[in-house]
Amino acid sequence: AKLDNPYVGAKPYVNPDWSAKAAAEPGGSAVSDQPTFVWLDRIAAISGTSQARGLRAHLDAAKAQGANLVQLVIYDLPGRDCAALASNGELGPDDLGRYQSDYIDPIAAVLADPAYASLRIVNLIEPDSLPNLVTNAGGTAGSTPQCATMKANGNYEKGVGYALHKLGALPNAYNYLDAGHHGWLGWDSNLVPSAQEFKKAATTSGATVSDVTGFIVNTANYSPTREPYVKITDTVNGTTVRQSKWIDWNQYDDETTFAQGLRSALVAQGFDNGIGMLIDTSRNGWGGSARPTGPGPSTSVDAYVDGGRIDRRIHAGNWCNQSGAGLGERPATAPDTGIDAYVWAKPPGESDGASQPLDNDEGKGFDRMCDPTYAGNGRNGNNPTGALPDSPLAGHWFSAEFRQLLANAYPPV
Ligand code: BGC
Repeated sequence: AKLDNPYVGAKPYVNPDWSAKAAAEPGGSAVSDQPTFVWLDRIAAISGTSQARGLRAHLDAAKAQGANLVQLVIYDLPGRDCAALASNGELGPDDLGRYQSDYIDPIAAVLADPAYASLRIVNLIEPDSLPNLVTNAGGTAGSTPQCATMKANGNYEKGVGYALHKLGALPNAYNYLDAGHHGWLGWDSNLVPSAQEFKKAATTSGATVSDVTGFIVNTANYSPTREPYVKITDTVNGTTVRQSKWIDWNQYDDETTFAQGLRSALVAQGFDNGIGMLIDTSRNGWGGSARPTGPGPSTSVDAYVDGGRIDRRIHAGNWCNQSGAGLGERPATAPDTGIDAYVWAKPPGESDGASQPLDNDEGKGFDRMCDPTYAGNGRNGNNPTGALPDSPLAGHWFSAEFRQLLANAYPPV
C-alpha cells in the first residue's frame, strides 16, 4: 500500500540547477538548500536539453544526494494554458495521442526503472488545466475560445486521466492534482463544480480516485497561506468582510482554509478521505515593509480589509511576476490539518512570463498580464497587472524577481 503522506519521514531532492542559480544571487544561499519541483514542461525535458538535465539525471542526482523523494510537475497537455498565453506549450489542442505516447509513457517508463524504486515520486498534475475548464470555458467574462475548445474535445480530462492512471500504477508514485487557488475556485459557484470536474477527470481514461493522493493549491500563485488580520467571518459595523471589493463575496480569503474546505468537498464527491493537500508557498510570503502588522481601520469593510490584508496585489486574479511578493513558508511536512506539506512548486526566481513579445522555440506566447502597462482583462476585473517590468520568458531566470522575493520573504530569511 502507498503511504498516506509521502512527505512524512522524507528527505526531498534539492534540484542542483535551481540551487546554483539561487546561490549565485546576493543572499541567495540562505534558501538555495530548499527542495523545489522539477518541471517537465516539454517532451525534450524528459531526456534533457542543453539548458536542463533530464529526468534520469535528476533521479540519479537525487540518489547521490541521499534524498528519497523527488517532486515533478507534469505539464504538457494538448492546448496547454488555454486562458493565458505565457505558458502555451508545444502540443496543439488535438495532440492527445502524442501527449500519451511521447510524454506520459516515456516518463512512466523512466520512473518504473527498478533503480529508482527507493525514491518516492510526487507528481503535480497539470497546473491550471481543470480549473480553466470550470471557470474559463464558456459563459463568463473571463472565458476564452481556447478553453471552450479544450472543454469540448475533452482532451484535458482524457490527458489528466491518462497521466493519473499511468503514473498512479507505479507503487512509489504519488499524484497531486492541481486545484487552482482560493482567488479562483473559492466561490460557492466554483467550489463544488471544481470537485465534480476533478472527479470526472480522475475517472477518465482508466483512472480511479485511488490514483489521486491529494491536491495542490496555489501552484505558481501568490495567495497567502493565512490572512492573519482578515478572517472571512469578520464583520465591520455589522457588515461582512465578504462584501469588500477585495474579497468580493468569496467564501475564502487564504489558501489554508480554502484547501481544507475543498478537501471536504472532494471527499463528498467520492475521493478517499485520506487525501491530503499541498500548498505552494514559494512566493506567497508578502513580507517586507509594506506588510500590515494588524487589522485595518473599522471605518468601512474596504478600509478594514485593504488595511489588514497581507496579500498586496491589486487584484487576486493577478498572477504574473507580482510586484511586492516575497518567499513564503519554507517547505514543511504536515504543517496543518489536512495539509500534507508546504512545498515550493514554482522555483522562486523563475519568471511567469515575458513582459513583452519575445521570439522563442518553446511555444510560449506573450500574455499582457505580464506587462506592467496593461489595464487588465475579464479574469482580473480589468485591473492593472501588478507585474514587474523587464521579465524574461516563462521559466527563465529573473534575477530582479528573485532578489525581491528574498527581500520580502515571510518568514524572513
Ligand atoms: C513555464 C515552464 C517553467 C515553469 C517553472 C511555467 O510557467 O511555462 O516552462 O518550467 O513555469 O518555472
